[in-house]
Amino acid sequence: MDLIIRSATLQGREGRHDIGIRGDRIAAIAPGLPERAAREIDAAGDLVTPALVEIHIHLDAVLTVGDPRHNRSGSLFEGIEIWGERVKSLTHEDVKRRATTALKWMLAHGVTYVRTHVDVCDPTLTALQALLEVREEVAEVITLQIVAFPQQGIYSFPDGEALMARAVEMGVDVIGGIPHYEWTREYGERDVRTALRLAAEYDRLADLHCDETDDDQSRFLELVAAETIRLGLQGRVTASHTTAMHSYNNAYAYRLIRWMRHAGVHVITNPLDNAVLQGRFDAYPIRRGFTRVKELLANGINVCIGHDSIMDPWYPLGVGDPLQACFVMVHYGHMSGRDELETMLDLVTTRAAACFGAEEYGLEEGKRADLVLFDAPTAVDAVRTLAARRAVVSRGRVVAETRPARSTVRWQGREEEVRFLI
Ligand SMILES: [Zn+2]
Repeated sequence: MDLIIRSATLQGREGRHDIGIRGDRIAAIAPGLPERAAREIDAAGDLVTPALVEIHIHLDAVLTVGDPRHNRSGSLFEGIEIWGERVKSLTHEDVKRRATTALKWMLAHGVTYVRTHVDVCDPTLTALQALLEVREEVAEVITLQIVAFPQQGIYSFPDGEALMARAVEMGVDVIGGIPHYEWTREYGERDVRTALRLAAEYDRLADLHCDETDDDQSRFLELVAAETIRLGLQGRVTASHTTAMHSYNNAYAYRLIRWMRHAGVHVITNPLDNAVLQGRFDAYPIRRGFTRVKELLANGINVCIGHDSIMDPWYPLGVGDPLQACFVMVHYGHMSGRDELETMLDLVTTRAAACFGAEEYGLEEGKRADLVLFDAPTAVDAVRTLAARRAVVSRGRVVAETRPARSTVRWQGREEEVRFLI
């Protein structure tokens, strides 16, 4: 063996297990492996899961906060205005530098799969070209998927359709869309049809920003589901955000969810950005502006969690940690029930991997060794404490390590360590 993680807690298995890694593969999982390895890590009962998957990020916009100015209102619309100014100074090196920095932050948090959107409403496609290079440069540690994302619309931006086609020819992995942002309902319908036609023609996945608004009349998701079925794309199409679903009447939502299940549409919810961006037009009571995660999961639809933005004009916070998004999701989505807490981590691991189409993914013998060792014994503790990632393994190699903080309290003449575990 090249690497053995000893005495780990694994989800869904009793007791402690050793994980033996040879080359880039998981070679054995069993209690007390007799072999030795060049490097051994004692998990001491802490949790090991498959790598985290960042399923929704905008790497072309990350780390631009405050440049050229801060978003004073915090609204989506001021964010779009500021981005419109920042885009003018976008260069190849600028995009590569920021994207690479953000990817390092994510890797330190255990992320080895990333799906990034890239704005293709740019006649020079500068950001796309830069991210295609980044995809190659990080391939030894991170599998990066690139989505052609028409930020200003396929039909509301000059030559939008031609730019989408060029982006596909240049080698994007996933086709995007933004129907609710197009100028008219009709343009929005064409946006959906074009995105899914391109996905079918070029054999790519699709992931559309869909109904990211509090407008209960924004109903493009039904067309996404219908076109997915018509084109035979079941399981290959994702709808991101779908926040308008929060505001649909229950009868309509019920009907829609049935069609989504039929179409095998994946849903990505982005609790960090949408917590601060939605509900901005409401007087009290203010809607949460959030898709119906509980209902979707209960109806057998695959839901996963994305980060969306890190320090950009829309969301000024973030450190590239999917656990922060999980933590907010628990609160914002009323998902503090015991079963919900225990499976929350799946929304950034196995469920996100299913959306990603990561075939070598999983904590099983023969799968690729992309793993995370948390500074916590259970998945609930990992989310609750935003536990440090003690070790991150990618392709069988330890590629990131974090020394967990340890607190000491001095009290009643004694000194003791506090680890926030009961
Ligand atoms: Zn997005």
